[in-house]
Amino acid sequence: MSSAPTLRRPDETGVPDPFQYMHPVMKKNYGNWAWHDRPRPGVLHHVAKSGDEIWTVRAGTQRQMDIFTIRKLCDIGDKFAEGHVRFTTRSNIEFMVSNQAKVQPLIDALNAEGFPIGGTGNSVSMISHTQGWLHCDIPGTDASGVVKSLMDMMHQEFIKEEMPNRVRITTSCCQINCGGQGDISINVQYTKPPKINHDLVAKVCERPAVVARCPVAAIRPALVDGKPSLEVDEQKCVCCGACYPPCPPMQINGADSTKIAVWVGGKHSNARSKPTFHKLVVANLPNNPPRWPEVEEVVHKILYAYKDNAKNWERLGEWIERIGWPRFFELTGFAFTKHHLDTWVGARKTMNMSAHVHF
Ligand code: SF4
Ligand code: SF4
Repeated sequence: MSSAPTLRRPDETGVPDPFQYMHPVMKKNYGNWAWHDRPRPGVLHHVAKSGDEIWTVRAGTQRQMDIFTIRKLCDIGDKFAEGHVRFTTRSNIEFMVSNQAKVQPLIDALNAEGFPIGGTGNSVSMISHTQGWLHCDIPGTDASGVVKSLMDMMHQEFIKEEMPNRVRITTSCCQINCGGQGDISINVQYTKPPKINHDLVAKVCERPAVVARCPVAAIRPALVDGKPSLEVDEQKCVCCGACYPPCPPMQINGADSTKIAVWVGGKHSNARSKPTFHKLVVANLPNNPPRWPEVEEVVHKILYAYKDNAKNWERLGEWIERIGWPRFFELTGFAFTKHHLDTWVGARKTMNMSAHVHF
């Protein structure tokens, strides 16, 4: 008689137990904090009901880090903090210490190695960005490069807390925008459907996979010069770029078709007002590495129009809602056109749809 098979545990079991990595003071007082404050930008101070205190020092990083930088940060954590670090969702690194006397030496050590301290409260925190060329297969630009250029411009706004409210900026390296909603969002925008190299399609592409990938069912199998290939219904195509990864001969990138658009007023939080989608304000900016000066100029105008005109505690989208979009365009100096207006009323009829997209 055969015995029952032994079940194999899955190799991947989700995120590890966080308590094993937690600072002992945080572990001891988990869920039992009395109050907190911010003694200075970039430093959080939490006091537990037990009377225990902990200071968190937040530093900016470039997110996609080489091993030498990570070791340098860990060495600082061992020498000047208490051996525990954590990363925020916006790629800032945080060091925890249980003694206030350790805060300033830790800040000095981080500054000496070029890591800015800030990103808390009403500052411009680190820009959250998508994977770019390093990890994803469809980017039209390098989101990390755009972030580096912009954060250089906004360095003072990271280390100070002088904005009306927190500013959350995102960048995305394709139109699919896995970066989410932001007060200001910088997204690649393809302006033309892909061009198909029919000689290569039959050799390189798995055509059913490409057809299935299109969100609006714009790709069809076709015979071209007697060879199996594909065709795109350009009336339906929304230029999303999703077909390019499974089929590189469907090239969508190019200086004339890969542009950058800037959107504003999105937010995920439901504090004071509902979460909102960001809305387009400037399109067709050149994808211009290594410093993207045109994008920098636009973001600078939006950021400082908001800083100079919003009331305390207004998020960028709330400020625009109060003053109205025409006034926002006046203050920033951008062109306001009919293309900026879409309330999505009637989207069921006007948006391209396929069996994949239901409303
Ligand atoms: S934004 Fe697009 S290209 Fe960039 S990581 Fe996300 S899915 Fe990939
Ligand atoms: S996947 Fe996107 S870019 Fe490709 S044909 Fe469909 S809509 Fe156009």
